[in-house]
Amino acid sequence: MIYKNKIIDGRYHAKIILDDLANQIKSFKKEHNITPKLAVIIIGNDPASQIYVRNKASNAKSIGLEADIIALDEKVTKKELIKIIQDLNKNPLIHGIIVQLPLPNHINALDITSIISPTKDVDGFNPINVGKLHNGDLSGLFPCTPLGIIYLLKHYLGNLTGKHAVIIGRSQIVGKPVSALLLQENCTVTICHSNTKDLKSITQQADIVVSAVGKPQFFGPEYFNSHSTIIDVGINRLETYDKARLVGDIDFEKVISKASFITPVPGGIGPMTIAFLLSNTLKAAKNLV
Ligand code: NDP
Repeated sequence: MIYKNKIIDGRYHAKIILDDLANQIKSFKKEHNITPKLAVIIIGNDPASQIYVRNKASNAKSIGLEADIIALDEKVTKKELIKIIQDLNKNPLIHGIIVQLPLPNHINALDITSIISPTKDVDGFNPINVGKLHNGDLSGLFPCTPLGIIYLLKHYLGNLTGKHAVIIGRSQIVGKPVSALLLQENCTVTICHSNTKDLKSITQQADIVVSAVGKPQFFGPEYFNSHSTIIDVGINRLETYDKARLVGDIDFEKVISKASFITPVPGGIGPMTIAFLLSNTLKAAKNLV
């Protein structure tokens, strides 16, 4: 592939992070006689969520963490779910708790993430951690996908000071937190969303574009200049006449010749998200001893 040196290989970087975490976990166990443990709550039978949860648990185990999957029926009530989380909050053997999203319609995600103890909130969605993120208080636990994005950007671009970062998407789990982290890196940050006018004229000015929209191959080369680094967070199922495959928000094949660097889907941001979830779990365990 002629553009190989432009591809940001998330699997490669995630492996480096996981290897380092495995060593840190070994030392932590030796020092404290504690194995950090992650509790993953999944509700219902969404096939994609089940794959994500299994990946998280198997990656955790592969580096020496323990992981419990708590599978609940999609009819579970909000009250029952809250009780389960409160018990996990009190359980000294559990260091990290996540609730796989999306939740069934009868349960509001913010009501649930607010219940998870901020010290065990390894997804970084609890309002206390959101506040710490925006205050630049590094004692907080911050969302995993944005942490993975910043790691890669620093690795490939070095100091991010002064760069113009355009974020497409303003969700609580990607768009807003990655904007806060980029601001802390002294970037000039522009946040775009579905009401943004003339998006193309904004992305064309960017040094960095982060797309978290969720529309398959939505952005073609006309959206980018010839020096931008493109981070594609989107994970979309694209059905063609004979098969289905996962693609990002960016039309990768058409855009790569123009980009300085670009993340593929799959194999870009996805593996980094899991690596930083496990990094957060170790951080939470360290904070709790
Ligand atoms: P949301 O649906 O919560 O947010 C999508 C955002 O895109 C919204 O802010 C929306 O604007 C904006 N948007 C929609 N259409 C347009 C448009 N035409 N132009 C500009 N902005 C638009 O999604 P998430 O942030 O949860 O996820 C986004 C994608 O990232 C999904 O594909 C998801 O699967 C993937 N993802 C991948 C992860 C990974 O580890 N790789 C982790 C998390 C998510 P508005 O607010 O105005 O509606």
